[in-house]
Amino acid sequence: MATRRERIISLLEERDYSVSELAQVLGIRGKGSKKLILEDLKAIQKILRREGKVLLVKPAECRKCGFVFRPEINIPSRCPRCKSEWIEEPRFRIAER
Ligand SMILES: [Zn+2]
Repeated sequence: MATRRERIISLLEERDYSVSELAQVLGIRGKGSKKLILEDLKAIQKILRREGKVLLVKPAECRKCGFVFRPEINIPSRCPRCKSEWIEEPRFRIAER
């Protein structure tokens, strides 16, 4: 039985996922689910460093004005440029360094 973090690692080695997609695939629901997965991703980033792999981040983007956020393990709630809350989540995947 793989742990949740191990499952996330094997998923992200296949293709890219957003946090919402990961929550759905892993069957994690509820208010804290995104926060939980963001914490997992931060831990995974550290684990990968020791294995010569890297967590790639496709940054979040404002779907209204196209503003591109910094590539961080975080889901921004509001666009700093146009104040829209219509945000495309960042996407994550794992690559060899
Ligand atoms: Zn915007």
